[in-house]
Amino acid sequence: MHPALIGVPWDENSSFIHGAAEAPPLIRAALFSESANLWSESGIDFGAAPIFDAGDVEPIPGVEMMNRITESIAALLDQNYSPIQLGGDHAITYPIIRAFAKKYPRLSILHFDAHPDIYDEFQDNRFSHACPFARIMEAGLVERLVQVGIRTMTGHQREQIERFGVEVVEMKNWRDDWTIDFDTPVYISFDVDGLDPAFAPGVSHREPGGLSTRQALNVIHSISSPVVGADIVEYNPRMDVNGVTAMVCAKLLKEIAAKMLEVE
Ligand code: MN
Ligand code: MN
Repeated sequence: MHPALIGVPWDENSSFIHGAAEAPPLIRAALFSESANLWSESGIDFGAAPIFDAGDVEPIPGVEMMNRITESIAALLDQNYSPIQLGGDHAITYPIIRAFAKKYPRLSILHFDAHPDIYDEFQDNRFSHACPFARIMEAGLVERLVQVGIRTMTGHQREQIERFGVEVVEMKNWRDDWTIDFDTPVYISFDVDGLDPAFAPGVSHREPGGLSTRQALNVIHSISSPVVGADIVEYNPRMDVNGVTAMVCAKLLKEIAAKMLEVE
């Protein structure tokens, strides 16, 4: 199915610093920068066949924004697009997956992140960007949640992981030949801080010891099930260095979009 871009410029639920809401236009600008072409590594030319851009979900204050996100993504899914959400912080993923779960009763999430983001609550906020996967798993919205890049596990989150049967590849156990098979459609939730800050400094929570851009791309390329949706979240332009991280997001976007087109 055809990919569609949609920006979700919302960082109200960030726990440390704000700025992720400013990401979507900068990721688009990096994608269309004349410093690079629009070909994927697999040979798809997004210059000749542009990715449909659905614009941004206009932010409104408070929890109503979550309903607005769910409705906006559901509308794209109804039109048979494979939506790629440009965050925003990771709090956007719960309302997004509410929409996906309706269309895909069997869905798996491949989640790249330094953090498990599965706190039951964080700073008295159950919708914090540290909590989306607790909300997704307790609502039974997906069949499998597989996390890679993790290197900040706490005792509480380890309990949550066991409670919900989450599969975690902690960074300390990383092997370059790691791949994963799914027998369901796949949603990729890509928190840019899953990458090492050397590759992606423009994030709110820089956590050393992460994946290289190449390692993450190799995992994405190796997925053999249909990729039906994705988000690229937590890019914080206020923390970026010369737009390096914006270009990383644009690269991920291009490769994920190409992956979606691979399985027609
Ligand atoms: Mn995250
Ligand atoms: Mn993170």
